[in-house]
Amino acid sequence: MQQIIYFDNAATTPCDERVAARMAQILATTYGNPSSHYSLGYEAKEMLDKARESVAHSLNASANEIFFTSGGSEADNWAVKGAALAGAKKGKKHLITTAFEHHAILHSMRALEQQGYTVTYLKPTSEGFIRPEDVAAAIQPDTALVSVMYANNEIGTIQPIQEIAKICKEHGVLMHTDAVQAVGSIPVDVQELGVDLLSLSGHKFNGPKGVGVLYCRRGVFLPNLIDGGGQESRRRAGTENLAGISGMAFALELAVASLEDKMAHQKELRDYVIRRILDTIPATQLNGSWENRLPGNANINFLGLEGETILLDLDMHGICASTGSACNSDSLDPSHVLMAIGLPEEMGHGSMRFTFGPQNTMEEAQHLCDVLETIIPMRRAMSCMWLQNENKVRNFGGEGEA
Ligand SMILES: *Cc1c(COP(=O)(O)O)cnc(C)c1O
Repeated sequence: MQQIIYFDNAATTPCDERVAARMAQILATTYGNPSSHYSLGYEAKEMLDKARESVAHSLNASANEIFFTSGGSEADNWAVKGAALAGAKKGKKHLITTAFEHHAILHSMRALEQQGYTVTYLKPTSEGFIRPEDVAAAIQPDTALVSVMYANNEIGTIQPIQEIAKICKEHGVLMHTDAVQAVGSIPVDVQELGVDLLSLSGHKFNGPKGVGVLYCRRGVFLPNLIDGGGQESRRRAGTENLAGISGMAFALELAVASLEDKMAHQKELRDYVIRRILDTIPATQLNGSWENRLPGNANINFLGLEGETILLDLDMHGICASTGSACNSDSLDPSHVLMAIGLPEEMGHGSMRFTFGPQNTMEEAQHLCDVLETIIPMRRAMSCMWLQNENKVRNFGGEGEA
C-alpha cells in the first residue's frame, strides 16, 4: 500500500501512540464506574480527578472549573445555548459572534434565532481578524454572550481574545471562546485571556475523538444541556468516558510539555510550503494573514481550479488535505470562512488547506510541493475557468482585471 501523507491535522489528528496505549490499558482494567462505592469505583474516580487536575493545570484553571463533554461541539453548544437561556431569564436575548465560526457555534446561533433571539455576526477583516472595537460597538444592554473563536479552523488566524474579553468584562457580558484549534497548538492560559467560557477537544491535539472540555470560570453558572445523573458536579450527566478523558488529559500534557518544539517544527513546514508554492506556482495566494497564524496552518488559493480536483489528485498520490472545513466537504457551497474574509466565490472554490502536525516531516512537505508543481499546471491546462482568464489577459493586456 502507498504511504499516507497526512496534512489534514485541523480536521483531526492521529492519536499519539503513548496515549492510545494508556487508553487501551484503562479500557481493559479500570472499568469501574466512578460513581460506584467500592474500590474499583474509587480507582476510577481517582483517575478521573487526576485527569481533571491535569487539564486544569495545562490551562492555568482550577479543577472545579473543568467540565468534561463529548467533544468540542457539545462544549460549544453548551456555552452558547446555556448562556442564551441564562440571559433570557434576565431579559437579555441578544448574542454576538462572528461570521467565520465553526458550525458548532453558527448552527447553535441559528437555532437560537428561531427561538426568538437576535444574533449579530461580526465580519472579520480581509486578513482574517475580528476587530475588538467592532465587538465593543455591537454590545447592547441586552447582550447575553459574546462568542469569538480563538483560532480559525480554516485559515488559522489567531484572534485578539484577551482584548475582546476585557471589553466584555467592562460591559458585564459573558465571553466564550471556541479554542478547539488553539489548545495544544499555541499557549492557552485562561487567567491571562480573561474569558468566562472556553471549549477544547481531545482529537485536535493527538488525543482521542469524542471527548472535550468546557472551561467554566468559577461563579459562572450555565443551565445544563444534558440532564440525568449527578456527574460533573451535577452539571453534565452521563457515566464518564474515563479512557477518553484520561487519554485527552495525557495528550494535552504531552502537547504542552513539547509546545515550543512542536510550534517551531510546524512553523518550519508551514513556511516552507507557503513560500515554495507562492514562489513556484503562478496565480497562487495565501488566504488569511501570515502573521498571527497557527503554526501548522497553510491555506492557499489556486486560481482557475476547483479544490475538489486538487483534492482527488493529491489523494491519488496518498496525500490527505482539505478544500476548507471538513464539515463542508459534502456541500458544494464555497467555504463560509473564505466568503467572510471577502474572497470572490471562484477563489473560495479553488482553495486548499494544508495543516501540519508533530508527526509530519520536511520530506513530506517537499513531496507535497513536488506533486503540486506537477498537477496544478496539468489541471489548469484542462480548466475552462483558467483558460478563459488567460484569454482575457491576452486580449485586453490585463487592463482593468484584478
Ligand atoms: C473540530 C472543531 C470543533 C468541533 O470539535 P469536535 O470535538 O469535533 O466536536 C469545534 N470548533 C472548532 C474550531 C473545531 O476546529
